[in-house]
Amino acid sequence: MRITDVRAVQPVAANTPRDWRLSFGQILVAIDTDVGLTGYGVGGGGPAGMHVVRTVLRDLLLGRDPEPVEALWDEMYRATLPFGRKGIAIMAQSGVDLALWDLRGKAAKKPVAELLGGNVGVPIPTYVTVWDDVPAELVGKHHAYKLHAGGHGGGDLATTVVAAVERVRCAIGNECELMLDAWMKWDIDSTLRIAAAIEQFNIGWIEEPLPADDLAGYERLRDRCPIPIAGGEHEFTAAAFADLIDRQLHAVLQPDVCWCGGMTELVKIYDTANRAGLRVCPHRGAEVWGLHAIAALDTEPLAESGRPWMTWVGGQPEIAVGTIQLTDRPGFGVIIDEANLPA
Ligand SMILES: [Mg+2]
Repeated sequence: MRITDVRAVQPVAANTPRDWRLSFGQILVAIDTDVGLTGYGVGGGGPAGMHVVRTVLRDLLLGRDPEPVEALWDEMYRATLPFGRKGIAIMAQSGVDLALWDLRGKAAKKPVAELLGGNVGVPIPTYVTVWDDVPAELVGKHHAYKLHAGGHGGGDLATTVVAAVERVRCAIGNECELMLDAWMKWDIDSTLRIAAAIEQFNIGWIEEPLPADDLAGYERLRDRCPIPIAGGEHEFTAAAFADLIDRQLHAVLQPDVCWCGGMTELVKIYDTANRAGLRVCPHRGAEVWGLHAIAALDTEPLAESGRPWMTWVGGQPEIAVGTIQLTDRPGFGVIIDEANLPA
């Protein structure tokens, strides 16, 4: 099998948020082959990511055998080193890597989860993110809930967050797992103050309290925070995650497979974390790209609900009362309507 084309487009659904998730939003990568198979993957970076795919990565892949995915990953990483390593270039490469894994599954006529040693027939528990309060229609619909508290401004941060945590815990009851996401907006002192006040509400983790590069700060939280710290959705490559894991900076690692380097890197991250006894809970894991890894590699599976506006990725399984289950279609099992893709 040989690669005959590598394409990248940015389909934009009507209700895509008008922020960086549009300007640097998700891109669809399609890799065509001379045997008629096309592999699909989703990466990030918007038009900038598309440019990386359409130039350096396409040049590297045209005419090549798509099978040695891990070796091709290394070549792509080296080819983008001068401007890559993290951020947009790796987000773009993630989409290419996932398209290569989709081809690998389609060539073997197996779902990616099975290639990874797993089984698509197992329902995976889900969680959903809420802001301020839990809408009544979401109560009882997920295995766990996460309160997004990064945006709480005005007034005393700790007071506002503690009140919101109490409200959400009340709404979902004591049986459900509850987590908190600060989206890089807190500092060490506020995190410790809030953690001391909300410990009584049985909080599973506090996510990204600090910016991703504040490793010294995370070291202090590791030693002093009574609630486990989660993070990693804004980190890239298995090598960077290995450092987080070695230093035990996050009790729960949250790689985003469409950003961190694709399935090739997510497999390595799972392996390193599992050996260190740390939990992996991929960012937006209920989207099909991460879900195959969760189904195969996770010792404590929990899938975060995905981006509802990404309707252009067809064939994704839906969440049904707190669980989600993969289909047995080969590859990632997505169905892409090529006729409606932008140029
Ligand atoms: Mg988050």
